[in-house]
Amino acid sequence: MIIAIDGPAGAGKSTIARRVAKQRGFIYIDTGAIYRALTLKALQSNIDLHDEAALIRMAEETRISLNNNPDGSIRILLDAKDVSEAIRDPRITRYVSDLARIKGVRQKMLALQRRLAAAGNSVLDGRDIGTVVFPDADKKFYLDARFAERARRRLDELRQLGNPITLPEVEADLKNRDAIDSTRSCAPLKKAADAIYIDTTDMTIEEVVNTILKEI
Ligand code: C5P
Repeated sequence: MIIAIDGPAGAGKSTIARRVAKQRGFIYIDTGAIYRALTLKALQSNIDLHDEAALIRMAEETRISLNNNPDGSIRILLDAKDVSEAIRDPRITRYVSDLARIKGVRQKMLALQRRLAAAGNSVLDGRDIGTVVFPDADKKFYLDARFAERARRRLDELRQLGNPITLPEVEADLKNRDAIDSTRSCAPLKKAADAIYIDTTDMTIEEVVNTILKEI
């Protein structure tokens, strides 16, 4: 069974997807982590984020794996090196949408996402899961929330990680990424026609998880 969860940044997708997967014993696949890992490698290798040919070549030569741990956490390996923390760095967040807009890069990542999900029942979260990666997913959800609430959640999350980021910085990041992610020509962020829309603004995590579990 494939469960697709899409939506803009800060809508709560990863928290919800992880919990739904844990409750049902499904694999959790954080597809944003894949694009983040590629962005980390590009920055480390000094590849210009506008050099599409070089980025596509890099994507072809890169091995990314996502490992689910029994405690519900996941580890992201980039060329066999654990980058789970490094890919959350604000520098990666700032540039990831520039890399993720490139069609050739996305095409390379399609096969990886499908292969990861072939290992068993899976919950995937991202931007194009219900529209492009798994248009035939068994259940699709589109999580959304008011902008101010998404910014507040992202700020809390980053502060908990010890990041001294300010609210205006978080707001600028969300606006920038949402704009690039939803206007790119290849696999833009949009609700699949058959996805269930959930506005999580005034809902608790439990309520959203239960709504999804009921639908599944
Ligand atoms: O989900 P997360 O915020 O970690 O995703 C980081 C970025 O990766 C997004 O802003 C988007 O540019 C890209 N992404 C994507 N398609 C996906 C998942 C993430 O383009 N399926």
